[in-house]
Amino acid sequence: MYSASNCTLTDVQKSMTCTKELLEKTLDCLQEKTMSVLNTFAVPQNDEAVQNLLQNFEEARNMFEDLDTTHKMCKHFSVKLSLIKPTEIFLGYRGDTGRKLGTSSQALAADTCQYIPISETVKFLFRNEHMQAFYRQSFDSHDGKMYDYCDGLNFKRHELYKKHPNALQIQLYFDDLETTNPLGSKTKIHRMGAVYFCIRNLPAEFNSALANIHLCLLFNSIDKETYGFEKIFAPLLDDLKLLETRGIQVNIGGQETILFGTICILTADNLGCHSLGGFVESFSANKFCHFCMVDKQMAQKEFDDDKTELRNKENYQLHVAQENPSATGVKGDSCLNSLKYFHITENVCVDVMHDILEGVAPLEVKLMLQHFIYVEKLFTLEQLNDKITSFDYGYANGKNKPSIILNLRTGENPVKQTASQMWCLLLFLPLLIGDFVSEESQHWQLFLLLRNICDIAFAPVITKGMAFYLKQLIIDHHNLFKILYPERNLIPKHHFMTHYWRLMIQFGPLVKLWCMRFEGKHGPLKRQAHIVCNFINISKTLAYKHQLSSMYTWKFGDPLKRHVTMTNTLQVAVGSLVKCDMFIEKMAAFGHDLNILSMVSVANCVSVFGHSYRPSCVLSLRCDLDKECLFGETVYIVPFCDREEVLVFLRILTVKYFNDHLHTYVIEKTNEFQMINLKDATDVVPLCLYKLSDSEVHLFTKYKLIA
Ligand SMILES: [Zn+2]
Repeated sequence: MYSASNCTLTDVQKSMTCTKELLEKTLDCLQEKTMSVLNTFAVPQNDEAVQNLLQNFEEARNMFEDLDTTHKMCKHFSVKLSLIKPTEIFLGYRGDTGRKLGTSSQALAADTCQYIPISETVKFLFRNEHMQAFYRQSFDSHDGKMYDYCDGLNFKRHELYKKHPNALQIQLYFDDLETTNPLGSKTKIHRMGAVYFCIRNLPAEFNSALANIHLCLLFNSIDKETYGFEKIFAPLLDDLKLLETRGIQVNIGGQETILFGTICILTADNLGCHSLGGFVESFSANKFCHFCMVDKQMAQKEFDDDKTELRNKENYQLHVAQENPSATGVKGDSCLNSLKYFHITENVCVDVMHDILEGVAPLEVKLMLQHFIYVEKLFTLEQLNDKITSFDYGYANGKNKPSIILNLRTGENPVKQTASQMWCLLLFLPLLIGDFVSEESQHWQLFLLLRNICDIAFAPVITKGMAFYLKQLIIDHHNLFKILYPERNLIPKHHFMTHYWRLMIQFGPLVKLWCMRFEGKHGPLKRQAHIVCNFINISKTLAYKHQLSSMYTWKFGDPLKRHVTMTNTLQVAVGSLVKCDMFIEKMAAFGHDLNILSMVSVANCVSVFGHSYRPSCVLSLRCDLDKECLFGETVYIVPFCDREEVLVFLRILTVKYFNDHLHTYVIEKTNEFQMINLKDATDVVPLCLYKLSDSEVHLFTKYKLIA
């Protein structure tokens, strides 16, 4: 209960007191009745069985003995449940005004930060049998596709992973989070810096799971200005240095194993990257890029990053020595460079969420809509908003439905949407306004180029060929932007995009490294801060509660399980199903012998790894690079929960053609059916069909699929 983010210590204590009272009253009553029954039957009080019974009553009364004070509770969590308590790290003293008996006086207050030892967390995780089972000891994709960090060049050339291929691949994530209302007066004081890490040696579906994101540092943002990153990161770096050189001992499958490890990638928004990396923290600076030496003027003209000087270990150290930030873009050496296997110029990746969904896309959608509405007058803002609110986005996209656009003429960010809403808007804009727009429209071509870029940048499986294609798409896109809006400057995020192709080859699919999941981790911390409402050493409270919740998930939950949950399952006779003869034939291929009289359970909705599947949702069955795709519309979902297996009976959909203008597949329904195991679908994301006219059914994928 205490681990829940919406519950305070006082709540827990109150409910414990109430439960205790209730329990005591019930026990008193039961004990009295038991004794009177025993007396009626003249059972001797000193009988051993009676004494045991009385003893049981006493024990039940003292159920909360180990937990009835805060101190006892904390002890219980640490000793019995191996909770890893955050360590308070002393940073320095600051002058503070204390108030005692009505008079205020000057006093010294200690500034501290909370550190959760990374080695302890790793040891704790390896006590979980699923962690041991899923930890990938050796992996290599042989099909030429890139699925994760380990398929990238960075992993293959990494000195530590060459020596110890099983070493921990730690992804570090750094961000600031607001614990109070961002518009309030105390935002700066209560802004916290949070450092999380995740272990990337798990199968892809677990790598991004919230349970695999662990807190390691929590500090007050002001302290990083006062004391610098060196001091705050010191305990973490000490731990990591030990991990790099001596390793830690864990048990994997009954065998004691020494695991080495290091930070393979640092992910942060661009500002976080710059402050932690020792780069200038202003994006209007002349050398604003942490990947290359491009200057402000060149960034408007040169979109091929082969033609710019890239940053590397050597020139970075030279720039540190030069101490000339305006000429080099480097302010000082990053504390992370003290690690043996990490360098800020080699192990940093981009975040496509911040760059595209919170930067480039809102800007370009705004410019395009302004052009269509006010210059070409193709439709009005009201018409667009009507479409946005009334369109049926399908059940899978319903929760990311874009908000209406209030005013396009003024304001810096009038297309105000969250990152997920922005993605949804990008996907649906062709269906919303495609009909109004001419096929020759250059502004529309620019939008479609951005859609094509997103298709590759957000793809969870990629090839090298796709990376090179992305490079060309981005060059074409930026060139067209400059033609359409010659008076506008490309923003720094446009420039970062020119490095995407290279980073993909280095680190694998960019979407696997993005901040979206990490930001999901902020939610519980922020909620907690609102509920606690006591900002005296808030980082300590938040870190402790975070650890409790993580301990609870890993001890009592099932963090790494392929969860299949279903709703509204119906037992039906096979004979009553549509196409039952085909259903029987296809089920037989999966080893289920049925006849028309057999009963089978079909589900109305099945959720696996956070994706829910329903009858009529569409799955991708085959997707080749040359747009030869095959899809299937779900007819029946047959779950076998005991085996964690879901069979899907599908109607085959073929692609008539790809509609370039709307960026959709135009679909034809066939009379052929197929049965697949859900896990064999080309992609996990369920898709929807959209009927735009009586004759045409459209379908689009959220990103480029390859299989
Ligand atoms: Zn650059």
